[in-house]
Amino acid sequence: MNKIILYHAGYDYFTPDPGEWEFKRCKACGMECDVERNHIGQRTRWGSNDSVFDIFSCPNADVSWHTEVIKILQAIKDTPSKRIAAIMKKDVDDLLIENITDVYALQWMEVSDAY
Ligand SMILES: [Zn+2]
Repeated sequence: MNKIILYHAGYDYFTPDPGEWEFKRCKACGMECDVERNHIGQRTRWGSNDSVFDIFSCPNADVSWHTEVIKILQAIKDTPSKRIAAIMKKDVDDLLIENITDVYALQWMEVSDAY
């Protein structure tokens, strides 16, 4: 049976046009996404017609710390307070440092626009 993974579109799951992107890093953890080229199916879960697109998805998407990172990133976007956002960003940094061993992923997160 296939494992069901709950992806978060825009963070760890992306569906660009075929060939539009060479490469994509996850916005939650900075890891290089797995890619499935020329997928045929519904692009959104809101029932659009079938189309062809590439699927980029993070290999860490099904682990709990990754879901936690995304929840915090969403909370950072929602808070109007820069001080609270800075504190929450530290929580994200801690989770990434604890769980990501790929130095390129960590470097990318430092300069990304995820937060
Ligand atoms: Zn990720």
